[in-house]
Amino acid sequence: MRIQGGYGRGPRPRRAWAGLSAMLLLGGCGLLRDGTGGSETNARSSADGGFVVRYEQPSAADLDGASFLRGRKPMEGASETLNAFVGVARQVGIVGRSCGGEGSGYDPEARRIEVCYEEVAEERELFQSAGHHPADDEVVAVLVETVFHEAGHVLIDDLGLSFTDRGEEDAADQFAALMLLRGDVSGERQLRAAAEEYELSAAEDEMVEDEVAHEDDDEHSPDRLRAANHLCYLYGSAPGRNADVADSSLLRGTRAAGCGKEWALVRGNWMRNLAPLLRGR
Ligand SMILES: [Zn+2]
Repeated sequence: MRIQGGYGRGPRPRRAWAGLSAMLLLGGCGLLRDGTGGSETNARSSADGGFVVRYEQPSAADLDGASFLRGRKPMEGASETLNAFVGVARQVGIVGRSCGGEGSGYDPEARRIEVCYEEVAEERELFQSAGHHPADDEVVAVLVETVFHEAGHVLIDDLGLSFTDRGEEDAADQFAALMLLRGDVSGERQLRAAAEEYELSAAEDEMVEDEVAHEDDDEHSPDRLRAANHLCYLYGSAPGRNADVADSSLLRGTRAAGCGKEWALVRGNWMRNLAPLLRGR
């Protein structure tokens, strides 16, 4: 198995996994258990390929989070988009579960993307603290982006692409942007929300000394940079609709001017790499 088979998408997984860095070196991706027991599966049989959503029984504390996911279906939405776009021969589970502090991530051995029920409440709190109420759409957006990011790791593995750890994380973020920018403007709104989440997380981290100490352990780009990258892709893909994000404190005018080219390059690289698996355009 690959060392960097997959990692968490964002700040919560990173916090949980920073302490597991020694384990990460051995196994990557949070070393999740073989969680095959007790899951419900949807209609597809395990012989089929593609992305398939399952829900595990939530812990008592996560009942609301699990019920929110079942109601708003971010995992199903992401899975549908992925299956329409790429043909993955070996099935990949997208599994909602109580993670007990581990954080969402991709487990390459079990071949499943885990989405933590806990993150519904965590993301809601983060957005509400920034004035979004009730922040349902933002929570959905972040979870959709999380699934796409982790799916990026799946595809990187399946395609045998090689990156540095940081490079793979950036490519997974870029894949998430690619998925969100393929659709209508609702995808653009979700990418904005995901960028805002990184920005809010960065601000939160700056207030907690302890977290800053973990930055060096993190294979992801710093959250402010991840936010700026998403905004650059958003602006680069449709500058007319997204002029407001150019020349902000996150995305400086000098970089914004090159975002059209940057996005074309990022998109072109992914599309070229994905060619063997592509179903849609
Ligand atoms: Zn990752």
